[in-house]
Amino acid sequence: MPELPELEMVRRYLADCCLGRTIAGAIVNQPACVNVPPQAYERCVVGGTLEHVWRRGKLVLLDLSNGVSLIIHLALGGEVLLKPSPDHDPKQTQIVLSFTDGSALHFHQLRLGNVHVFPTYHLATTRVGRLGPDALNELPDAEGLKTIYGASGKAMKELLLDQSLLCGIGNLYSDEILFRAGLHPKTRGKDLSPDDFAGLRDAIGQTLADALQAKQPGAPPFEPQVYGRTDELCGVCGTPIVRLRLANRSAHFCPQCQPPRRSA
Ligand SMILES: [Zn+2]
Repeated sequence: MPELPELEMVRRYLADCCLGRTIAGAIVNQPACVNVPPQAYERCVVGGTLEHVWRRGKLVLLDLSNGVSLIIHLALGGEVLLKPSPDHDPKQTQIVLSFTDGSALHFHQLRLGNVHVFPTYHLATTRVGRLGPDALNELPDAEGLKTIYGASGKAMKELLLDQSLLCGIGNLYSDEILFRAGLHPKTRGKDLSPDDFAGLRDAIGQTLADALQAKQPGAPPFEPQVYGRTDELCGVCGTPIVRLRLANRSAHFCPQCQPPRRSA
């Protein structure tokens, strides 16, 4: 499942290649991928110039000059590509936005993904407005993280996945963040000390920075220390990595480096 670093790369791609282009037409092959009837969708976007691209968590947003915004949710395996023409295979491509210069933006393999259109002034009332601060661009300081998580009796693994508290972190990076912070996945938010919150903040920032660095051309891939490594040996202490079920997700951790806390 793509997480924040993957979607940040999509944002950068769109910022590099698409800004300033004006939409001339919209082809919707899969109506389930849009939130209004296809003809209305086209009316909403045609004539709009792509002015601004930004990201909140795992959503990428395109603001158009005509007062509407597109919320791009690529879900699992969705892709967006700028091509020289709108020509496409309707079985593979769910939405095509063609530009006045002849080029076109193709959305492939959306499956459960979608590209919804909303008035820009209305975004705060959409799912964008229900997201917490972005874990990369708006990462709170240790005190801010304490405000977000410090009163909760829920497990940190579950709290990190709650997009309404802080957004962009999924199953993979939450495991890596907790490993780096030395926190057992079941540690409750209210059991973290001020030092723990400082360590957690560093772990979030550093893990996302490493993950983004690994996306750069020619860079070695991101190597998880615990995620998906059940029974392999911890790279720090040599203890076998353990997997446990928690809040309907799996958490991977090192029992030695991430010991359980004695709850208050
Ligand atoms: Zn270890």
